[in-house]
Amino acid sequence: MNEIIIKPVGIVISEIEKPEEMPPGGTPAVIEIYPEYREALQGIEENSHVWVLAWFHQAPRDLLKTSPRRVNPDLPEYGVFALRSYGRPNPVALCLAELEKVEEGRLYLKGLDAIGGTPVIDIKPYFENDIVFSPETSYIKGKTREMRQELMMRHAMVHHREQCRDLYLAVRMAVIAEEYFGKVMSAQLGVSVHGSGCLADSIQGITRARLSNPSRFDFKKSENLPRSVWTKEGSTLSIRLKKDFELEEIKELSEQELFDVEYLPSKNS
Ligand SMILES: [Zn+2]
Repeated sequence: MNEIIIKPVGIVISEIEKPEEMPPGGTPAVIEIYPEYREALQGIEENSHVWVLAWFHQAPRDLLKTSPRRVNPDLPEYGVFALRSYGRPNPVALCLAELEKVEEGRLYLKGLDAIGGTPVIDIKPYFENDIVFSPETSYIKGKTREMRQELMMRHAMVHHREQCRDLYLAVRMAVIAEEYFGKVMSAQLGVSVHGSGCLADSIQGITRARLSNPSRFDFKKSENLPRSVWTKEGSTLSIRLKKDFELEEIKELSEQELFDVEYLPSKNS
C-alpha cells in the first residue's frame, strides 16, 4: 500500500490561529463535525474525555529528528517518533481533551492542543484502560521555572482535581525537589508527606510515587505544619512550611519566605 486516503470528519474552531501562540496544555476549543458524520457522535456525551486525532496541515513533513523546542530548545535532539513534535512524516496530532458538552454536531472541549482550522480526522473516547499510572518517560525538563511549575500543576490536577491551597503547596515543594534531584517521577526518588490528604494526593500526582512496588511514597496525616521529605540515593531533602500561609501567599511568596529547607547529601558522594 503506497497511499492511504483520509477524509476530514470535522474542523477545529478556536481563537488560537498560530501554533506558537498555543499555551502548554492547550486551550478551550470547539470541533465542528461535518453533517454527513454527525450520526457517529451518538452516545459520545457519556464520556468526560475524548482523544482527538487531527491533521497538522501546516507542519513540516520532512522532519525526522528535532529538539522538544516548545518545552526546552536546549535539550538534545530526539527522533520525532520519540516526541509529540508538530513536524513529522504524517503530521497526525493526538490530543486528550475534556468534553464539556455536545450540541448540534459541535463538541465543546477544554484543553485542545490544535489551532483553528485544523482538520479533524477521528474522535475516540478515553477509557480507564488508557491509564498508566507511573510510566517511564523521557525527562523533557521545561526551560523555565514557570514551565516546570505549570507542568507539575497539571500533573497534580489530574490526580487531585481541585485547586486547593495544598495542591499549590505540593507544586511549590516539588519544584524545589526537582532542583536537587532532577526528574521527580524517577523510580529512585522517594517522598514522605506529613500533612493533609490534599497535600499527599497532589504530591502523588506529581511524582506518581506508589506505596509499594517500588515503595516510593509514605504519608502521615498531621495537623502540624506541612512537610515533605524527599530521598534519593542516600541524600535527603526536607521541606517544611514556615507557618500556616493562605493560598494567595503560597502562590506569591518566595521559597525562602515559605519554607525551611534542609539538604543532607549522601555520605558516599
Ligand atoms: Zn484539596
